[in-house]
Amino acid sequence: MRRKLVAGNWKMNGDRASLSELDAIAAAAQAHAAVDVAVAVPFTLIDAAAARVPGLAIGAQDIHQNANGAHTGCVSAAMVVEAGARFAIVGHSERRAGQHESDADVRAKAAAALAVGLSAILCVGETEAERDAGEAEAVVTRQIGESLPEGAEGGWLTLAYEPVWAIGSGRVPTLEDIAAIHAVARATLRQLIGDEADGVRILYGGSVTGDNARAILGVANVDGALVGGASLTAAKFVPIVTGAASAA
Ligand code: PEP
Repeated sequence: MRRKLVAGNWKMNGDRASLSELDAIAAAAQAHAAVDVAVAVPFTLIDAAAARVPGLAIGAQDIHQNANGAHTGCVSAAMVVEAGARFAIVGHSERRAGQHESDADVRAKAAAALAVGLSAILCVGETEAERDAGEAEAVVTRQIGESLPEGAEGGWLTLAYEPVWAIGSGRVPTLEDIAAIHAVARATLRQLIGDEADGVRILYGGSVTGDNARAILGVANVDGALVGGASLTAAKFVPIVTGAASAA
């Protein structure tokens, strides 16, 4: 049985004052023990966030694939662990597009997380042009195949299906479309890692709110949500946790 996971991604938002939002989020996580709750904050806030809400899983939004070296401006998996992170997002579409990260890069980042005992949320998803061309399932299948690292299993790895066109847009696929892609993602995992696929959580991400969370998280093979904009305040994030609890 896979536990629901609601993971927030603050992106390049938030400062020390914003950490007060985590107090109510941590309280909601405690109140809904059937749901796992996590928040990926900017690198600069990881240590303070982890110290402030020890009961909440605090994570990083990216890591470099190498352990150390001449990579100005980058941060390694071991560094975020030392700061207090319990997980890292890898392969977010904003990094694939903005920082030109390839599936091979994403696979290497996930492997770097595993090497230091860090959990990873690995993101895949099609662009609007790819969906319009009828390629959504093929794109997601290819991305999973090329970015899933050796040793993938649900104890440390979570997959997130995030259609690029749904991120921050207020547009959400139909529940049928979400079910179809999540079924394809599950089948692809099964082809790649056999029975271990059953333990890997597959999150949906893209304009999840308190209003649609319960319905989306009730879809087969949707094991939680990756949430951007609505994770920035407890007022918007806690209803998603509540929705997940009622879908659990
Ligand atoms: C995201 O960026 O991962 C995301 C899901 O954003 P939003 O919830 O704002 O669509």
